[in-house]
Amino acid sequence: MSYKCNKCNQKPVIFQKYSGMHLCGQHFIEDVERKIKLSIRKEMNINKNDTIAVALSGGKDSSVLVYILQKIFKHRPDISLLAISVDEGIHGYRNSTIESAKELADKLDVKHQIVSFQEEFGKTLDDLVARKRIQGACTYCGVLRKHILNRVAREMGANKLATGHNLDDEAQTILLNHIRGDVERLVRLAPTKELDGLVLRAKPLRKIPEKEVALYAYLHNLPVDYSECPYAKEAMRGEIRDHLNELEVNHPGTKYSLLSGFDKMVKILATAYPETNIGSCKICNEPCTSQLCQACKILNSSIE
Ligand code: SF4
Repeated sequence: MSYKCNKCNQKPVIFQKYSGMHLCGQHFIEDVERKIKLSIRKEMNINKNDTIAVALSGGKDSSVLVYILQKIFKHRPDISLLAISVDEGIHGYRNSTIESAKELADKLDVKHQIVSFQEEFGKTLDDLVARKRIQGACTYCGVLRKHILNRVAREMGANKLATGHNLDDEAQTILLNHIRGDVERLVRLAPTKELDGLVLRAKPLRKIPEKEVALYAYLHNLPVDYSECPYAKEAMRGEIRDHLNELEVNHPGTKYSLLSGFDKMVKILATAYPETNIGSCKICNEPCTSQLCQACKILNSSIE
């Protein structure tokens, strides 16, 4: 039996099991872009003269994000878009993704800034994890990357910072925090507000499944690097990803349900975990909620 697009009878490029729809290339693209525009409207509170920074790694998610944001805002001359790539210093991995990021930013004519752990902290992620460590590489990487992105985005005049987290990433993180019983971290996963010194973060792809992001990148022939970080295998996230993918096959819509359940629950939980006052870190002066920011805690604990 040959299937047809539910909207126009053309040959489909995808079957969305969770929606029951077959979609051709054009209607698939429209569907992805519609969901992203909705997320932008809900989460990003776009105003006249906004500057949006995109964390561009060179992988499929952030590449699709910068491509779509450029497409959406190219007719708004008051909105500026820029891309920031962070080179954590991961041997055999990051160099090639940075090259893809450069190529895409060039192609889209988006201002692009590359910053590295080495320049910023005097050491690479590889250096940090080679020393005595008490946490996984991804914890160091995530905290330090967030720190750099916020500072550089702010210094480049951005008031919004968009990251390429997709539905799979979000569903995995929600489940991971449940499994660890880390309710506080779960609450912090919610869309942020603009606070002193902290650029508002947004995840416009959070409702797009990973496979659909990959298909969108493929259909647009974006220069994307598909290599996997060598530290990814260490993380418990990999196990969660496999379980979730199995659940999604057997029970389509599981990832969406996890996310929409979280969105409802987080509003209630936020009252039990109110936002703490933002001060500044005693060492680097960046915004934080205690004496030292997480990045300085990590960097100081790794000095031997
Ligand atoms: Fe960083 Fe972990 Fe992602 Fe590698 S897998 S880039 S270490 S967060």
